[in-house]
Amino acid sequence: MIKRLTLVLALLALVAAPFAEPFQKSGTADAASPHFSDIQPSQEAAVNRLVDEDVLAGYEDGTFRPDKNVSRAEAVTMIGRITGFSGYTSPDFSDVSDSDYFVQMVAGAVHDEITRGYEDNTFRPHRDVTRGEMATFLTRAFTFTNRDGEANFWDIYPGKLHATGTEVITTAGIANGYPDGSFRPDQSITRYEMVLFLDRVLHPEERVSNDGSPEVEGMTGETRVVTASSGLNVRPGPNTDGSPIDRIASGTEVDVLETVNGGWALILHNGEFAYVSNSYLRSPGGSLAGKTIVVDPGHGGHDPGASAYGVVEKNVVLNTGNYLAPMLEAQGAHVIQTRSTDRFISLSGRTNMANNAGADAFISIHANAAGSSAAHGTETYWSSNYSAAESRELAEKINSELVRELNTRDRGAKQANFHVTRESRMPSVLVELGFVTNYSEAQQLNSASTQRRAAEAITRGTVDFFN
Ligand SMILES: [Zn+2]
Repeated sequence: MIKRLTLVLALLALVAAPFAEPFQKSGTADAASPHFSDIQPSQEAAVNRLVDEDVLAGYEDGTFRPDKNVSRAEAVTMIGRITGFSGYTSPDFSDVSDSDYFVQMVAGAVHDEITRGYEDNTFRPHRDVTRGEMATFLTRAFTFTNRDGEANFWDIYPGKLHATGTEVITTAGIANGYPDGSFRPDQSITRYEMVLFLDRVLHPEERVSNDGSPEVEGMTGETRVVTASSGLNVRPGPNTDGSPIDRIASGTEVDVLETVNGGWALILHNGEFAYVSNSYLRSPGGSLAGKTIVVDPGHGGHDPGASAYGVVEKNVVLNTGNYLAPMLEAQGAHVIQTRSTDRFISLSGRTNMANNAGADAFISIHANAAGSSAAHGTETYWSSNYSAAESRELAEKINSELVRELNTRDRGAKQANFHVTRESRMPSVLVELGFVTNYSEAQQLNSASTQRRAAEAITRGTVDFFN
């Protein structure tokens, strides 16, 4: 009997190797030295231990692929390599055949009652295994002792699938969930998470306390700035239940570890995990949240604007405006486009749109023309009629960003008496991206890449102005 089992396992090793990936056995290698090019230093010890113990292997290209998901067939194979299985019951799953490389491992898992497959008589070997399923598999494959009291995860509750398995492996120190207090039972398990679980199964000294520390190393926060003018409530959970535990002042920077439950940001507050509403946070690089900005591509319809060398101003500026609008929106602005298609709008129609909306900025986009084909460069106009100082500042910031981005001659920010800047009551500018009457600038202005980069430059200048 023992001989027979050994033979089966030897065959299994041969059969199973090509599926999972060829073994990168270290043999005499020092377990502390990294075997793989794509794992973090903090991941090396556990990964190398399990590879040295033949539980799983790396890939032929020298990678380990720690973030790759694990299939159900791979999961039972890894477990089988540890337990050896006590016998094999040929499965009659409709989606597992005798020629499948994993058939023996599935047979072992069925014999040892680690899995029964699905009610429709399938095993779904190629489906990703979830963290919850893995918890159940491990609970059936190994015997654990509770060393840590009880597990409390907000996404695990009585009756939830895999709740028992999750509780067992957590209190045994095999898993410890995520810092936001979740276990994420329905999330696919990664190869590195699998390594952590199995390493703790095999090596009791590696087991962890269920103290809410991160399951996966390297979770770092992203800095955000509080925008709520009266301060932002800090709450113990990702919901509005109960009373806030504190309030953070507007302008305070917080580190957001992650966003959960549709719009709650997990932060560390006085050393404790806490939540704030994500709606009142902006990126520190500056944002246009709460700002209404009018994007005004000049001309349109029967008015082509300037044209030369086959390049027509109304098209260049329309395309640039259509790139600009979503970029400003991505910074949180409410954007009004005077036109997003090739149609004519009167000058007063444009300024009325901006004034009626109570806009915070007005940006008119044009391309220049001159009698001499030698004239070239970028200039931006402002008017002293309304918001003079702010209009000038906005013009200077946008013009310098455009010159830098497009590498054009800096013709400066200038005062002028154009209708759209004169009659708009908010900070307003009129940019002349370049000259269609200059051959090389005309070619440049006609390219989608230049139009997109011009929009990026205008966005940067605008963000700079408001922040
Ligand atoms: Zn024009």
